[in-house]
Amino acid sequence: MPKFDHHPTVQQWRKREADGSPPSPVRPIEAEGLRQLCLEAGADDVGFVEIDRPELADQRPQILTAFPPTQTLISFVCRMNRENVRSPARSVANVEFHSAGDEVNHIARRIVAALEQQGIRGLNPAMGFPMEMGRFPGKIWLVSHKPIAVAAGLGQMGIHRNVIHPKFGNFILLGTILIDAPVTTHQQPIDYNPCLECRLCVSVCPVGAIGSDGHFDFSACYTHNYREFMGGFTDWVETIVTSSSKGDYRQRVTAAESASQWQSLSYGANYKAAYCMAVCPAGEDVIGPFLTQRKAFLQDVVKPLQEKVEPIYVVPGSDAAAHVTRRFPHKQIRSVGNSLQVSSIQGFLQGMPLTFQRQQAKGLDATYHFTFIGAEPCQATIVIRDQTLQVETGHVGRANLKITADSRVWLKFLTRDYPIVGAILRRQIRLQGPLRLLLAFGRCFPR
Ligand code: SF4
Repeated sequence: MPKFDHHPTVQQWRKREADGSPPSPVRPIEAEGLRQLCLEAGADDVGFVEIDRPELADQRPQILTAFPPTQTLISFVCRMNRENVRSPARSVANVEFHSAGDEVNHIARRIVAALEQQGIRGLNPAMGFPMEMGRFPGKIWLVSHKPIAVAAGLGQMGIHRNVIHPKFGNFILLGTILIDAPVTTHQQPIDYNPCLECRLCVSVCPVGAIGSDGHFDFSACYTHNYREFMGGFTDWVETIVTSSSKGDYRQRVTAAESASQWQSLSYGANYKAAYCMAVCPAGEDVIGPFLTQRKAFLQDVVKPLQEKVEPIYVVPGSDAAAHVTRRFPHKQIRSVGNSLQVSSIQGFLQGMPLTFQRQQAKGLDATYHFTFIGAEPCQATIVIRDQTLQVETGHVGRANLKITADSRVWLKFLTRDYPIVGAILRRQIRLQGPLRLLLAFGRCFPR
């Protein structure tokens, strides 16, 4: 490109190239040296995973979109201070989550900067937030840190769906760095699960999100623990705009809840619980008191969280609402809208397993054939049987109820912007089969 030939930067770069400096980085990168670099930057443990590992198959396209030259993923963990995470004063726990999260981002940044000095390109997606909110309510994160950490031998998922490190337990936060170079050695998943299956996480979760059989009610966790994050925040905003007066708003939202939203907006969104992490006794550094002084451990760590009087956010008619009433009658139920929003028919179908309420599905045995027409035409089969849900593309088997719906009208019905009765009367939603099956279907997905 002759037009740049006389530019000082171009001349300087060409001179450096001619001098042979800096030398090209050695590839593959020697694993032990890279590990030391990560530990010196502040990581407490680290592992490497090659991009073509089967465990990454479902997120490989997104990883390569985020950073096309990715060849290796560096996964690392940072320890959190345990007593802070365990404190019933959630301000203390939230400071710990935020501080440790900032530390993960700083460490990742330092590692990427050091690698860049060596001529190795790298990219560090956020530990948590910020994320790509333009994609909300779709997948807003660039990488899923947990499966990468598992593939890198940094732990296994406990039944509470957090990664448990064999030594530090679940008192860790995860970071991932994508680099453009191969590494000499990769790690494999550890060959046992540090989770003890003690079910303390089951006993302490205020919304019953973790079933003793290992079932996970995602929407219960998302609605309560993440009340001041994306979906819950949006629901709060909608509460403001649909309040008819200051008095009406105050009826619906307490002064403490308004102040809490302000705090989240000012200092970082606060988690309402995360009690499953607080009580988890797994991990070599953590397990001692659980084994040697179990009574005291339960008294000091588990009971204060169970006995805490606090608002619990649930969708009316959900399994979580029933759980709070049954298990924690001293806690205050706060009824809110479902924070898992849907903006497309595909999103609706993919999100159904996350919002399915199996206790509400007791006794229901039905096959539904959906035919969506209009803006997003598609067909799907939904089978609810034995309190389980199955979603398939196309029409499969014999339907007990056939539902034909204009896709836009269906989405408005889901977001409570349009009553289903009006849609049925206008024939924008048409049924072939008993109406009671539609009502039973609705109970499985309370909004
Ligand atoms: S609390 Fe017990 S069951 Fe729950 S994740 Fe930890 S070790 Fe596993």
